[in-house]
Amino acid sequence: MTATPAWPPRSAPRLFVDQPLAIGASLRIEGNQAHYLVNVMRLAEGAPVKLFDDISGEYLARVTARGKRDITLTLESLLRTREAVPDFWLCAAPIKKARFDFLAEKACELGVARFVPVLTDRAVVDKVKDDRLRGTMIEAAEQCERTALPVIAPLTRLDALLKSWPEGRHLFFADERLHEDRGVSFSQALTRHSGPAAVLIGPEGGFTDAENAAIRSHPAAVPVSLGPRILRAETAAIAATAVWMASLGDWVA
Ligand code: SAM
Repeated sequence: MTATPAWPPRSAPRLFVDQPLAIGASLRIEGNQAHYLVNVMRLAEGAPVKLFDDISGEYLARVTARGKRDITLTLESLLRTREAVPDFWLCAAPIKKARFDFLAEKACELGVARFVPVLTDRAVVDKVKDDRLRGTMIEAAEQCERTALPVIAPLTRLDALLKSWPEGRHLFFADERLHEDRGVSFSQALTRHSGPAAVLIGPEGGFTDAENAAIRSHPAAVPVSLGPRILRAETAAIAATAVWMASLGDWVA
């Protein structure tokens, strides 16, 4: 018996549209997205495209008109409503551009709700291009089939982050020196601390002793170890996010 082909086909392009979407609406798309659909994907009239707006969900649209530099899509049906995102924040000191982009991409794929670049004393990078981060997150969401984009917070100084830390949210502090002191592993800490959470990852140079003490004295802080090896900042961030998602996030069926 031949299997019924999936509809829309998995190969259908999937794009984020920065405006509220609704069934029956027609969208004229220009610029890079039009170039991608017209010249790269070479879509013909009638071809399916999946669109999501980070507001109401994901829609099935069809090509209803094609120009050289634009394309018109008409929304036919709602495929999925916007997903509920696990209540997990990733707070990370900015690192070199390409690796920070990589980190942002992985944070989106892994399901973080909020991405907080944190300025610390040893951070080698003290600026973050928000539009670049947003572009990276949108591409990652289009690829990993998220219907909700992570919120990107502005670059925040560590002391300001601690001062404005929200009540009731655990701040898992990834401390590479904890393993030596037989400190708590992250997975152990998660058996005791469920609910809204965040992980804090330092820069390549680590946190200063003063920063370490300030973080530890914060009532929401839970120092955790990610094992005996000194991980690169992006590795530590990805590992910690994966452990939280697997224990308390949406990887748990
Ligand atoms: N310069 C630091 C050193 O040599 O001690 C290493 C910093 S590490 C490259 C960057 C950040 O990743 C650390 O600040 C920490 O937040 C996190 N990290 C790396 N390895 C870790 C581990 N084994 N346990 C907990 N956190 C870790």
